[in-house]
Amino acid sequence: AVARTPLIAGNWKMNLDHLQSIAFVQKLAWSLRDAKHDYGQVEVAVFPPFTDLRSVQTLVTADKLELRYGGQDLSVHDSGAYTGETSGAFLAALDCRYVIIGHSERRQYHAETDQVVADKTVAALRHGLVPVICVGETADDLEQHGPSAVPVAQLRVVLEALASDADIVVAYEPVWAIGSGQAATPEQAQQVCSALRQSLDEALGDEAAQRTRILYGGSVKAANIAGFMAHKDVDGALVGGASLDVDEFSSIARFP
Ligand code: PEP
Repeated sequence: AVARTPLIAGNWKMNLDHLQSIAFVQKLAWSLRDAKHDYGQVEVAVFPPFTDLRSVQTLVTADKLELRYGGQDLSVHDSGAYTGETSGAFLAALDCRYVIIGHSERRQYHAETDQVVADKTVAALRHGLVPVICVGETADDLEQHGPSAVPVAQLRVVLEALASDADIVVAYEPVWAIGSGQAATPEQAQQVCSALRQSLDEALGDEAAQRTRILYGGSVKAANIAGFMAHKDVDGALVGGASLDVDEFSSIARFP
């Protein structure tokens, strides 16, 4: 079996300006250092607003932090007359490792379709970024189609656009569990993550399926992370609300 390094990823959404981001990252780094956190054992990443990324890069570089960071979205285009958009080239120039793509809030408020998510994934890979591809069903989807159908269908559209050596992360985020305080059970998360790994196998082959990390996201906190991580197809977490509290997020990263 391939050993997959767990990834604990904090999605700040539209919170913390560039000055607050510096204070936050400093405190997080101190907390993890005091706990002798081994970043090789559990990778930790933050996803600040675009306007914070230069500050985060400067701090990470100056203090030689092993913390990873990335954008919360990117454009399908590389440059040009696209007002308000952010190129993957710019994220790569700021040493971003990752970029979140297709978060349910982008799908819901910005009408991002599975095809847009696929196009953005290709754009991210073109710039050497690792896309964190978000999929997940609404409460209605769950009622109508059962647990795995919608997230698997969403992922399939993206995988059709990829080569078998694509370096990606998948995040299973049931929409009903995001920001609701109502997390999926670890068993529910495992069931869907396992189905998503099966889709990876079908589309990209066994090597990709075994190597690719699949995260769970939706009301993850320090008190429930261990339950998710005990399941074999859950390789980490995408954390929203709890990623804005240094102590809480640091505890989540120290789940083992
Ligand atoms: C998210 O938005 O990616 C998320 C998982 O949010 P929360 O942890 O607040 O449910």
